[in-house]
Amino acid sequence: MANSELTKETAVADPTLAWKNCLLKIKEHVSQMTYNTWFLPIKPIELQDSTLRVQIPSQFFWEWIEEHFNDLISSTIKDVLGNNAKLTYVISEDLPKAEPLESRLNNQSQVIPEKKQKQTIESNLNSRYTFNNFIKGEGNQLARAAAGAISDNPGGTSFNPFFVYGGVGLGKTHLIQAVGNEILKKYPDKKVIYLSSDSFTVEFVESIQSNRVNEFSSFYRGMDVLIIDDIQFLIGKEKTQDLFFHIFNTLHQSKKQIILSSDKPPKELKGLDERLISRFQWGLTADIQPPEWETRIAILKNKAEAYGMKVSNEILEYIATNITSNIRELEGCLIKLLASASLNSKELTFELAKQTVKEIATERKINNITIESITNNVCDFLGVAENKIRDKTRKKEIVLARQLAMYLSKQLTKSSLKTIGLHFGGRDHSTVIHACNSIENAKSSDESLTNIIDTLKSQIEFSS
Ligand code: ADP
Ligand code: MG
Repeated sequence: MANSELTKETAVADPTLAWKNCLLKIKEHVSQMTYNTWFLPIKPIELQDSTLRVQIPSQFFWEWIEEHFNDLISSTIKDVLGNNAKLTYVISEDLPKAEPLESRLNNQSQVIPEKKQKQTIESNLNSRYTFNNFIKGEGNQLARAAAGAISDNPGGTSFNPFFVYGGVGLGKTHLIQAVGNEILKKYPDKKVIYLSSDSFTVEFVESIQSNRVNEFSSFYRGMDVLIIDDIQFLIGKEKTQDLFFHIFNTLHQSKKQIILSSDKPPKELKGLDERLISRFQWGLTADIQPPEWETRIAILKNKAEAYGMKVSNEILEYIATNITSNIRELEGCLIKLLASASLNSKELTFELAKQTVKEIATERKINNITIESITNNVCDFLGVAENKIRDKTRKKEIVLARQLAMYLSKQLTKSSLKTIGLHFGGRDHSTVIHACNSIENAKSSDESLTNIIDTLKSQIEFSS
């Protein structure tokens, strides 16, 4: 009896308190600057069986922490939570991880206001994304205004669906999540869910495998606000598009709010079902343009302040002048700069800023490579039609194109095997592994293939 009481207690332990205790210890070992830059932005999410799950702002952040503070963190966490303690990270950018359907539906049996039990769902929203810290500028004026109107009256404006598009790192995810957060603040009872179209596809495929498509579909039809990020990744996934089409119709008819983001306006989503493209234009389509200089300065000032850092105007202006088309890069540059200064006890000099901006430009080249751009280049090179690559066909040249594209996607992007498989006609991860092995084997006996791969790599890098 006593034993089970004890487990119960640890199972519901308070992650905030646990992390607070860790912070107290960490503070003793690092400088104030390091503490503010690297530890304050970490948010505790969950504590279960001595495993503390925390949220980290970005991939870069995670890599840095792993590299520099791994020992400190693991010893601290053991100090606070015992020898079996573990820390697991979730990166905010990846937060809309598809969790199993049933784990998102949990009955709040303690609070029963009415006869019907209230159902809560995990919204997948990251609380970091708010209207408050979304800097307004000319480039996002319309989108921001519409987002505000929608959060006042979800489903009740003519902005349904609300379709936001724009280039990488310009704030699409931030804005559409901020709408979700604001709606939940104003209407805590509304069922709001956010996920990327990739997660949506993964869940759908899993629901097919487990014979639960109906459950999957009715779950999403039951939402008050459905937010789907990066809808362009539905291209080439006909079955998912078809199901999404029906979910869209149900929600729209019952005046539920639909919010979508994409890298292109609806009309340019070539390969997406025409019925969807036309529906995407029913409501409001708003673009987000790169921020002008003044907005870039405002964003940098705001972020520097959030990290508790003092950065000279000269440096902020240098960054704003040299990083022009991506807010994520502005932020990344600032973090990187603060990091090298705090860890190497260097001063935040103009020279250091210059060097950091240069590093960001190099990273940009690598990060721009997408599975789409790889597929595009491979198909061009081998003279294979792009849609064929997703088909079931076993024609020799198409199989080669597909395997090469999978192999290069694994090498040149950070995508998981699962994601790569999905981009090639919903194949599973073992097919991707098989493709990578086949190419490796073929390479060792065929020098011309190595040359082809090298040429392709440089073409892909050049075109990205
Ligand atoms: P996208 O989804 O368009 O690729 P994100 O929404 O992920 O871009 O934005 C990239 C980063 O830039 C995020 O950390 C986000 O908080 C930040 N950001 C984008 N737009 C703004 C803005 N207007 N004000 C403040 N931060 C912003
Ligand atoms: Mg995004």
